Parts: sequence; C-alpha cells; structure tokens
Amino acid sequence: MTSTKPLVVANWKMHKTAFEAIAFVRELLTLDPDCRHVDAVICPPFTALAAVHDALGVSPVELGAQTMWYADSGAFTGEISPRMLLESGVRWVVLGHSERRQYCGEVDETINRKIRAALAHGITPIVAVGDTPSEHAAGITLDRVAEQTRAAFDGMIADEVARCVVAYEPIWAIGSGQIDSPEDANAVMREIRGAVPGLDRTRILYGGSVEPASIRRLVAQPNIDGALVGGASLEASSFVALLDEAQGRALSGQASM
Ligand code: PEP
Repeated sequence: MTSTKPLVVANWKMHKTAFEAIAFVRELLTLDPDCRHVDAVICPPFTALAAVHDALGVSPVELGAQTMWYADSGAFTGEISPRMLLESGVRWVVLGHSERRQYCGEVDETINRKIRAALAHGITPIVAVGDTPSEHAAGITLDRVAEQTRAAFDGMIADEVARCVVAYEPIWAIGSGQIDSPEDANAVMREIRGAVPGLDRTRILYGGSVEPASIRRLVAQPNIDGALVGGASLEASSFVALLDEAQGRALSGQASM
C-alpha cells in the first residue's frame, strides 16, 4: 500500500469563493489540526486553488482538484490541464466523481485517460466509483462497481494502479444522510481491491454522508482506508473533527494509533 495512514479528502464541490476558502483555511490553521497519523487533502473549486495553496503555507494539509482534463494544452474550452493544476500546487485530483458522470458526460474512457495523465504528471488520482440507487436495489452493486473499476484502470500495469486511490461512493448515499453500513461498504471495497491487479496496494476510501460521528467506525474496517467527504468538510471545525476521528483520536486527545 502507498501509505498505511488513513486519508481524508474534502470535496467542496461548487462551494466557496476564493475569499470564503481563505477564511476556512485561516480558521483551520487556528485549530492546528494534528496530521501525524492521517493524510488530509482539500479539493476546492478551481478558482480557489491558488488562494488555498498560498493560505495553507507549510500546513501538512495538501491540495487537490475536483477534476481535470487529460491533455497538457489545446483546444479544450473551459478545461484545466494537469500542468495548470501543478502550477497551482495541486498534488491530488478526484476523477470520475458521480456528479461529473451524471451532469458533465464523464465516461469510463475519458476517466481512464485522465488517470494516466495525472500519473504522468505526478498527481495522485482519486478515482471515484459507485452504484446507483436502482443498481443497489437490484442487488448488483458488486458487479457494477467491479466493472467500473476495471474500465477506469483498463490497460494499466499493476505498479501504475498501485499509485492511485479509489473512492467507493454509493450514489444513493451522497448528500442523502443515508450512510452505507461499514460492513457492507467494506465488502464492496474488498471486491474493488480484487478487481484489478495493484489495488491490493492502494488506499480505498468510502464516500457518502460521512460525518465525524461515523468516520471512525468506517476506517476500523480492514478495507476502508479513509473517506471522501462533501458536506461535513465545509466547516473547518468539522473537517478537523473528521481528521481526529479518522486517526483514532478520542475526544480526550488520546492517540490510539
Ligand atoms: C462527495 O462529495 O463525494 C460526498 C461523498 O458528499 P457527501 O459527504 O456530502 O455525501
């Protein structure tokens, strides 16, 4: 595995102007998050990336983007390249988020190209896969998620795949307040790990209505290595609570990892 530390990724989606993002980081730095036993990444909108990078300074919290294009430059109106992200201090990128698949026409083939481009530039892809409510209801989650995972990493060798992170996000759990049970999520992640050579060495995150109160039970599962978090990452205090809980710190401040 690339790292044994849990990884907590804040996906801010289309929330926060650069001004609001800086205010978040200032509050975060005041709270002085303990990142000794957890890796932390914030993914703001493109327009706030440079500002968040500057505001984070030497903080151990790292910067991610919510998507990117696969070419270095060219006639791709409205898109952002890996080189542009690197210039803004980005080291991680979420690819294939279900909202981009649903609203922006993202398909497996472009996700695959984006993963390869991110790796070629030294940016760690966080590859999102997940089942729809109807797939969940039909009981085909394992097949569907394994199929999506194989398509995302199609043609890649195990050592490349091992440099990525996967996020399993049941679509019915995103933003719904309806979290998957840690045991069920762990079973899906076990399936993902076995779907493609190299994923036995990666971190696999759970995403979907994760809160500070639920993250610890999730990361206690053998196949859950952290979380991709939307709503509960938008307040600095809640983000710090997620980091504390993910690294097994009781509210008393006792480290258990
Ligand atoms: C997400 O944005 O990927 C997500 C999981 O959102 P939320 O935590 O709000 O469900």
